Amino acid sequence: EFDVDDYRTEDPEDSFEDIGGLKRIKERVREVVELPLQKAEEFEDIGAEAPTGVLFHGPPGTGKTLFARAVANSLDEGTFYNIKGPEILNKWYGESEKQIRLVFEDAEKQEGPSIIFIDEIESLASSREDSRDVDRRIVAQLLTLMDGFEEYEDVIVIAATNRPEDIDQALLRPGRFDREVEFPSKLSIEDREDILKTISEAKPMQIADSVNFGVYAEKADDWTGAELERLLNEAAIIAIKDDRTVIKREDLRLAFRQIDRSNNRREKGRG
Ligand code: ATP
Repeated sequence: EFDVDDYRTEDPEDSFEDIGGLKRIKERVREVVELPLQKAEEFEDIGAEAPTGVLFHGPPGTGKTLFARAVANSLDEGTFYNIKGPEILNKWYGESEKQIRLVFEDAEKQEGPSIIFIDEIESLASSREDSRDVDRRIVAQLLTLMDGFEEYEDVIVIAATNRPEDIDQALLRPGRFDREVEFPSKLSIEDREDILKTISEAKPMQIADSVNFGVYAEKADDWTGAELERLLNEAAIIAIKDDRTVIKREDLRLAFRQIDRSNNRREKGRG
């Protein structure tokens, strides 16, 4: 039985303060998503076109979902909906478009503003010529919902993808997903250090004074935010196994090696 409650989080916990680095992305997300929802009336009074859809693009683990949740968190009575493209397609095969509509209707009913996040949008709305009937119905439904947006003015739909070129281009026209935020595939060393620091302080984690995050920020050259978070979690597990409640340098060193190895294996697997 489809239950829209499974897709909805009222006032999600992640906040902008829990996001490390990515200062320009924060500014951009606040400008294209938060501001129009916070100041919907001002947008209308001044005659500005408020966005209805925003495309987040960038590789997995770069914080797209996290940012969408942070906006919902920062808004008064903000609600967050999370639709995972492949899941709604497979679990509700043949009726996905109806379930998507139910989510939009639920968002419209909310007192406060809502963010509908659609992850891996390319799986629902691909640009392939040979797309199946089901896919075409989903795209048509999404277009209808987006175009009918006057009625849902305090809802913004964020679509996320790692392959913007694979999306049905009709979705990118004005009034639909017409704003973009690009999440960098490579973080700067300063951002990597700030992400380690921010995640460990947000929890907060118990870290020995001798630990210098700068060392790991430098070594974790191509790592994403998700991988940096994993580093801290793995180090914590190593400490717990050793009956300690404080993370030491050695724990991070071992955790780094583990993750680095599994990253290398994956790279090789990809050829
Ligand atoms: P996917 O495409 O796989 O859904 P995503 O881009 O949506 O990936 P998230 O799910 O937002 O990535 O990120 C994964 C996790 O990594 C987050 O829940 C968060 O804990 C951590 N993370 C990523 N980037 C950051 C960051 N800049 N600061 C703090 N934590 C981060």
